Amino acid sequence: MTFTWTPHRFSGGALALDVANSVVMRFDAARRIDRYADPVALDSFAAAAASFCSDKDLFGPLEPVAPENRPAFLNLREATDRHFRAEVLGRPSCEHLADLLDAASTVIRRHPIKATRTPVDAAAARSALMLATFSERERLKICPNCQWLFLDRSRNRSRTWCDMTVCGNRVKASRHYQRQKKELTS
Ligand SMILES: [Zn+2]
Repeated sequence: MTFTWTPHRFSGGALALDVANSVVMRFDAARRIDRYADPVALDSFAAAAASFCSDKDLFGPLEPVAPENRPAFLNLREATDRHFRAEVLGRPSCEHLADLLDAASTVIRRHPIKATRTPVDAAAARSALMLATFSERERLKICPNCQWLFLDRSRNRSRTWCDMTVCGNRVKASRHYQRQKKELTS
């Protein structure tokens, strides 16, 4: 089956988090998938982000990461995940923050600010920097089903899932199944 970037894959609420979430089931060695491992998917991420990402209006048209900039982009992705995940888990670390700032500055240094189309790695670096200084920390969350990072943009900060229609329903369906199984076997 051919992989496509669907709106669900941009549930992070900020480009930097959507980039971090390109690793699916990050902590499950058996099921972990790195969507950027396929260069075709990595290239098509830019156009999909320009259409589906929540903060797309900040960046306008995005262009793919140049092949020579891919290692720096992947480094930024990992630093983004480590830093914000530690923040949500209440374990903020100066080292993670410094790594994120280093990774972002490496990416930004490679791109002139006045490019007509922003390369997606430069946009992700700016998104990460904006998030790092975002004051409403309680809006930053981890989906209990898929472990994706997301920014809860709801008015009353009541979002539990990265995407109710995907993760919320999956958990509800599995609870329903467990209940039925229990009823049938008891
Ligand atoms: Zn989820």
